[in-house]
Amino acid sequence: MEIPLAKPDIREREIKEVVKVLKTSYLSLGPKLKELEKKLTDFTGRKYAIAANSGTSALHLIIQALGIKDGDEVITTPFSFIASTNCLLYERAKPVFADIKSDTFNINPELVEKLITSKTKAILAVDVFGQSADWQELEKIAKKHKLFLIEDSAEALGSEYKGRRCGSFGDAAIFSFYPNKQIIAGEGGIILTNNKNISDLCRSMANQGRKTEDGKWLEHIRLGYNYRLDELSCALAVAQFGRLERIIKKREAIARIYNKKLSEISELETPVFSKNRIKLSRFVYVVKLARNLAGKKKDKIISEMAKKGIQCGNYFYPIHLQPFYKKELGFKKGICPVAENIGERTLALPFFNNLTEKEIDFVVKSLKEIINKIK
Ligand SMILES: *Cc1c(COP(=O)(O)O)cnc(C)c1O
Repeated sequence: MEIPLAKPDIREREIKEVVKVLKTSYLSLGPKLKELEKKLTDFTGRKYAIAANSGTSALHLIIQALGIKDGDEVITTPFSFIASTNCLLYERAKPVFADIKSDTFNINPELVEKLITSKTKAILAVDVFGQSADWQELEKIAKKHKLFLIEDSAEALGSEYKGRRCGSFGDAAIFSFYPNKQIIAGEGGIILTNNKNISDLCRSMANQGRKTEDGKWLEHIRLGYNYRLDELSCALAVAQFGRLERIIKKREAIARIYNKKLSEISELETPVFSKNRIKLSRFVYVVKLARNLAGKKKDKIISEMAKKGIQCGNYFYPIHLQPFYKKELGFKKGICPVAENIGERTLALPFFNNLTEKEIDFVVKSLKEIINKIK
């Protein structure tokens, strides 16, 4: 049996929507873009949505629009996908890593406040694995110290925090529509904000620095990029969006089956989710292995699972310990002990909308065998 870590779930109707676009004369900057952006403003309650060709470019645009530049410090989490910190490096800003909480794996607000200096410009927090960060605390800190607050919600489309949807926190937020995310565009991302200035800047920069309204096509008023999201991708994301609630429910049901079946393996903990969150849209299914299975033993589990045809993931190896960050920026082990410890022990199991109970059984049985063999 071959079981991938993630697998896109695309319906026939969604394929038809993409094909329909191919028969029009709008392959970029057309009606599907507007439709996608409208769906996301309606969903999050934000005033403005600006689609981009990836979650990473969406983050980059926000950093630029906020004027974060060379030498500025941004406090962020090391327990995330690399893009949430790389976006700072694009503008030569300095990432300052605050450690995470051991239960939710999200940035620890108490540690954030201690790291603020006169150079701090922003806090960039991530709703990791779909679980919202502590936005109430983060908003308080940002307000008190007059810092920008950025929400990387790439993994949390549909999640809520105290009744408010993820993507609605901070000065600006992003979602991603990469194929392993809850909603897929192929490649794709989107920025959400209530600030017209941020919105205008992002839209202009995403489109080669053109004016956002009644500009000439070959007139460029600032440095821009081609970060536009094409109509085919927008059409797919729009069609998928109609199924979001069902997708969230499916993923939740799969997670519950995993939780139940894995409870017989004493060498691991199933995911913990705070009651505060109310609603959770799960991105991945990550278990925490016992201490004696950390590091090399975890790598061994991953390779043994692969031999059985089961793909597992190393979510997340802390960003500050990534080879590039160690070599070029001089980060060392020891600055974020919680993230480092968790990073050695977390293991992502196959998780996607149409994962069957039979497949789950095979994953659990295999994991059990391998753990018993190597522990
Ligand atoms: C997926 C992801 C991104 C980047 O999104 P892309 O669309 O792949 O560029 C950024 N941050 C986090 C936390 C992610 O999981």
